Amino acid sequence: MLETAQRAQQLREELNRYGYEYYVLDQPTVPDAEYDRLFQALQALEVAHPELKTADSPTQRVGGAVLPQFLPVTHVVPMLSIRTETDVTAQGALAFDASVRKELDLNASEPAIEYAAELKFDGLAISLRYEDGVLVQAATRGDGATGEDVTQNIRTIQQIPLRLRASQGTQSLPHWPKVLEVRGEVYMRRDDFEKLNARQSELGEKTFVNPRNTAAGAVRQLDPKIAAERPLSFYGYGLGAIEGWDLQPNTHSGVLDALAEFGFPVCDIREVVHGGQGLVAFHQRVAQLRDTLPFDIDGVVYKVNSLELQRQLGFRTREPRWAVAHKYPAQEALTVVEAIDVQV
Ligand code: NAD
Repeated sequence: MLETAQRAQQLREELNRYGYEYYVLDQPTVPDAEYDRLFQALQALEVAHPELKTADSPTQRVGGAVLPQFLPVTHVVPMLSIRTETDVTAQGALAFDASVRKELDLNASEPAIEYAAELKFDGLAISLRYEDGVLVQAATRGDGATGEDVTQNIRTIQQIPLRLRASQGTQSLPHWPKVLEVRGEVYMRRDDFEKLNARQSELGEKTFVNPRNTAAGAVRQLDPKIAAERPLSFYGYGLGAIEGWDLQPNTHSGVLDALAEFGFPVCDIREVVHGGQGLVAFHQRVAQLRDTLPFDIDGVVYKVNSLELQRQLGFRTREPRWAVAHKYPAQEALTVVEAIDVQV
């Protein structure tokens, strides 16, 4: 037992250090696959020995500390993590469908659940707050409850609307919510990353390690002029706080359609599918095309499409029960190779 407790303590310390390097410094020192492996080992230990679970365990919290250089922003709706499915084969999707059906107490004769399947963009989560259609604040996820005010840096991203487009084509009668918080990912395209590094080399400056950390570092720059020089992109994938939205859709896919109408980039590689087999097919389809994508992904995400069912399913400590992230096996190997390059 003492050995198990020591192992848990060691895993917590390692993960907290890697988490700090990744979330706070934007400079990871180990590949994501290694972090995920240690995280899952700690989770398994805590399931077998719940008495070893501590409040400071990385399995109990989201993200990293908020840097004091930025003003803190309280998230009215917390920005959570997403559970990662451990079975990286396409069939792993079936376990998520089974867990959702079990939570909802559905038997085999009841119809398949509708899911929104989308890409898991590898960047930095951002919450954009619009009041009366105007961008008033942008915040990082931080520790999920409190983020960092990065409004000035986010305003430099051309793809992010400073004012929402009036939906349904009429300026005189906009169907904007009074308050709309859009959640999404700031990322750097692969070609923009290559160009940036080529420019850095020409100038004799240090080159960047990968698009994810370059994007995260740019958003958390103290000088907006530097942020403006880094070519950043954005995809919307969800909502935070909402007030006064008469026409709010009742599905996640409907929300994404509405975000596109409001002027946000929404990735068109997304599908509404039915049941676990629909998710498996999406996982397989994305496996075929992910190397050809112009940006890095961290896997795919499946979300229960009905917002009412999402409400019924609710949350665990740090993640919703209605969503799961599903990675790819080869992707992990790729990350390891990348990390070896970094260390050389
Ligand atoms: P997560 O895996 O819990 O997923 C939630 C995040 O996914 C969101 O905050 C959002 O930024 C992102 N996302 C991308 N596309 C999305 C979509 N379509 N819908 C919803 N969310 C979407 O996030 P996390 O806890 O920040 O962990 C991310 C990954 O970071 C982990 O899987 C791990 O591999 C890696 N990590 C690596 C290290 C390291 O040292 N290498 C340390 C910590 C975390």
